[in-house]
Amino acid sequence: MQIKRLKLSGFKSFVEPAELRIEPGLTGVVGPNGCGKSNVLEAIRWVMGESSPKSMRGAGMDDVIFAGTAQRPARDFAEVSMLVERPTEEVSGDVALAPPGDVEITRRIERGAGSAYRVNGRDVRAKDVALLFADAATGAHSPALVSQGKISAIIAAKPTERRAMLEEAAGISGLHVRRKDAEQKLRAAEANLTRLDELMGDME
Ligand code: ATP
Repeated sequence: MQIKRLKLSGFKSFVEPAELRIEPGLTGVVGPNGCGKSNVLEAIRWVMGESSPKSMRGAGMDDVIFAGTAQRPARDFAEVSMLVERPTEEVSGDVALAPPGDVEITRRIERGAGSAYRVNGRDVRAKDVALLFADAATGAHSPALVSQGKISAIIAAKPTERRAMLEEAAGISGLHVRRKDAEQKLRAAEANLTRLDELMGDME
């Protein structure tokens, strides 16, 4: 999967709509202190489904919405859209969600109302977006997104955390989510069968 474009509006310091085109190859974000470099990386993690406000350097998720300055009022919503190219081999059981080719994922948060996701303009669940990225061996917690302090965090990580990183890099973390879903369905089916046995026993 390749990230091709990022659009931000009302996200942290990006109060005005901004569009960043990301060309193939290595991309570096440079600029003076406090200009919003980390906010760009956080926007990528956020649109991929980041659910921890703390890891977005906030107390609550509404803190990603432009908070206002002495000159400008605060905004009521923040929106980030990311255009990615999805190769055929990354599309597994979710062709209906997004076929191979260019896919635009959008996350929008309204103050006090939480987040909503869209894929190619269609409303989807947060889980669908998480799976889409997990199948591409990436996501909000991908080790490929290296923010400040991440290197020392990786060195200090517990073996189980390192294993999760390796699984993500190997592209199998999506399978874990699907396995959990399948196990839940299996348990529900087993409970139904037990109930059916009881009912049949009562009838005999
Ligand atoms: P450094 O090089 O010092 O790490 P940086 O370029 O990574 O800085 P960021 O940390 O991305 O900069 O951006 C910090 C700026 O974003 C600060 O000016 C902060 O006030 C602003 N900011 C963060 N959240 C919001 C928000 N919700 N509303 C308005 N501005 C915000």
